[in-house]
Amino acid sequence: MKMRRKLIAGNWKMNLGIKESEKLASEIVKKTGSNILKKTDVLICPPFISIPAVSKILKNTGILLGAQNLSSENDGAYTGEISASMLHSAGCGYVIVGHSERRKYFHETNPVVNAKAVQSLKHGLKTIICVGETFQEREDEIFESIIIEQVRTALNDIPAGKMKDVIIAYEPVWAIGTGLNATPEQASAIHLLINNTAEEIFGKEISGELLIIYGGSVNAGNAYDILSAERIDGALIGGASLKADDFVFISDTASKLK
Ligand code: PEP
Repeated sequence: MKMRRKLIAGNWKMNLGIKESEKLASEIVKKTGSNILKKTDVLICPPFISIPAVSKILKNTGILLGAQNLSSENDGAYTGEISASMLHSAGCGYVIVGHSERRKYFHETNPVVNAKAVQSLKHGLKTIICVGETFQEREDEIFESIIIEQVRTALNDIPAGKMKDVIIAYEPVWAIGTGLNATPEQASAIHLLINNTAEEIFGKEISGELLIIYGGSVNAGNAYDILSAERIDGALIGGASLKADDFVFISDTASKLK
């Protein structure tokens, strides 16, 4: 079984114009030493409009580039949408799908998230599929079945051979941008559940290689505890990814873990 390399991914969301994106990307490049990149994959996901500028800055640095969303369609009359092949040609190797903000504000359902994942994987993009329960779903103790359903539907029709390009991000909705984070034990329990759900579909070998990362108020202060917990392979970071020092500190923390 292949070793799982840790992944630290920054989701800049709808923040920063082109100039500010260039500045932050340049700072991250300057501060991310080769010692970090030897051990950990570091990814940044700027807004679409900054992708070409950030792509130039990241060229030959080893830092990876991704987008925050894509269309489930190939091309054509879909005003305002961005396709997988456009992302690929702009230098993206990764894309995030099913972020809870897209599920909440843009009504993306599990089947929509699945269609986007199928589309991005077809075009060779590594695909970060976000899943996570709301506060109410945790209160009602239905969070496990919610996660299983999200994972099962998102992975529907994905060929086993494409699973090496899939990353699952467990992001409890109540922990995103709130300053509340799941305890390492809470997060680990869900990561194991995701692992087992993938194992039921694809078997032990493939699930054993699947990266499962955590997102939800990860910062420089809590990164060590979260990243060292069982079956946590990295982090998807919103707020703290907008500060170069914090983001690089978290990447460095990941690189020092076994
Ligand atoms: C996110 O948007 O994926 C996220 C985890 O945000 P934050 O780190 O700000 O909670």
